[in-house]
Amino acid sequence: WAKSDGKGRWALFDPDRNATEVAQFHLSAKMPAALERDEFYVDYQPLIGLRDFNVVGVEALVRWAHPELGRLGPDRFIGLAEETGLIVSLGRWVLRKACLQAKQWQDEFGAAAPFVSVNLAVRQSRDPNLVSDVAEILAETGLAPSRLQLELTESAIMGTADEPLDALRALSRMGVRIAIDDFGTGYSNLAYLRHLPVHELKIAGSFMEGLRDAERADPVDARIVGTLVDLAHALGLTVTAEGVETQAQARRMADIGCETGQGYLFARPGSPEEITTFITDHLD
Ligand code: C2E
Ligand code: MG
Ligand code: MG
Ligand code: MG
Repeated sequence: WAKSDGKGRWALFDPDRNATEVAQFHLSAKMPAALERDEFYVDYQPLIGLRDFNVVGVEALVRWAHPELGRLGPDRFIGLAEETGLIVSLGRWVLRKACLQAKQWQDEFGAAAPFVSVNLAVRQSRDPNLVSDVAEILAETGLAPSRLQLELTESAIMGTADEPLDALRALSRMGVRIAIDDFGTGYSNLAYLRHLPVHELKIAGSFMEGLRDAERADPVDARIVGTLVDLAHALGLTVTAEGVETQAQARRMADIGCETGQGYLFARPGSPEEITTFITDHLD
């Protein structure tokens, strides 16, 4: 009967929506204790050099081993953690965990060790303690600053006050790499990009769609991707293609000079043990 009252009322009484909201509420309420109880864990996904297929880097991707709901992906809880503010402590936890793991790879593989790339939420990029937290974690874990990359989306970097930029400059001076994540999906001020302390562009996986098959490549997608890579190189940045699922995509990206690729074609996100094996198998 609620439906016949019109759209607004229907939305109010929609039992599914209500159930979802209740579930989300429970999830966000449970997150602080879950962090205490070590229910979160980090998987790693290789970033592959498109010329030699070495593991150049690994992206740290957080997951939640929820006692009742099973494994939850970040899309289920990162947004909630941003809303409640827990993202700042969760993000710091991920950063420490990832740096500890990367230090182990640094010890095991020496010069061939991959850097670890850690996602920063918008709220973390505006956290006044960001720079001191990163410095402290690097000192504490013994990871070389050049083996840490921080990924921020365009919205976290662009069109904001000066403080986040100052923080990025300080991190960059420390030797930490800065990457723009999901590039091409947000609001980018290209002129501004030139003055940012950024080292790498990660081209969003959505641009790979039109390059799925070599024979049926979408000419517009192909040109957009080619232009993004040229732009990045003109700015002195390296490029990673995200969401590489087919050989055709990997070949096309290599042909246009994109340095690294990330995607299911090469490897899915995996445990530290799985990734250690993967790195070993891909050494020269
Ligand atoms: P992202 O940073 O763009 O990470 C890449 C996402 O694409 C990952 O999803 C990865 O599993 C997925 N992916 C990798 N290769 C392929 C592929 O070939 N095809 C497709 N379709 N997908 C692929 P995941 O792990 O579910 O993470 C989703 C997003 O959650 C991330 O997107 C990132 O924005 C966020 N996230 C993950 N971990 C963290 C974290 O520690 N902190 C913050 N703030 N955000 C995180
Ligand atoms: Mg990322
Ligand atoms: Mg991305
Ligand atoms: Mg994303």
